[in-house]
Amino acid sequence: MTRPVAKKIKPHKGGCLCGAIRFEAQAPAGKPHTCSCKLCQRHSGGLTVAWVEFPSDAVAWTGPGGAPSTYRSSDYSSRAFCGTCGSTIGAIDDAPVVALMLGCFDKTNAVDLVPVSHSYRGSRPKWWHVECAKPAAE
Ligand SMILES: [Zn+2]
Ligand SMILES: [Zn+2]
Repeated sequence: MTRPVAKKIKPHKGGCLCGAIRFEAQAPAGKPHTCSCKLCQRHSGGLTVAWVEFPSDAVAWTGPGGAPSTYRSSDYSSRAFCGTCGSTIGAIDDAPVVALMLGCFDKTNAVDLVPVSHSYRGSRPKWWHVECAKPAAE
């Protein structure tokens, strides 16, 4: 027999390819979406990337490399990457918001990480198809 346990939301963890950059982000994630804009394509080398957002104070950089390196990509945001291995990590906005790419997460099946919309769908090649879940009912 199992005993009901109070549901505790664990932080999301993840990091770069070499392990220098690691993060812990307090759930729940906001705005889970995919994006096929040219900035995301050039930043990642992928045709589409999946994003989630957190308030900056909900993200701790826990790896030996500390915070990721950044490149100023627009007048409100900088793209973040590992200066050692070059992995794409996400974007650090002036907002203050930290947006992280789902490919960096250790586990990607949590319900708050499921993309519900696709930005710049028209910028993807026509042969490339991306599925998104329907937004959860409020
Ligand atoms: Zn790295
Ligand atoms: Zn984009």
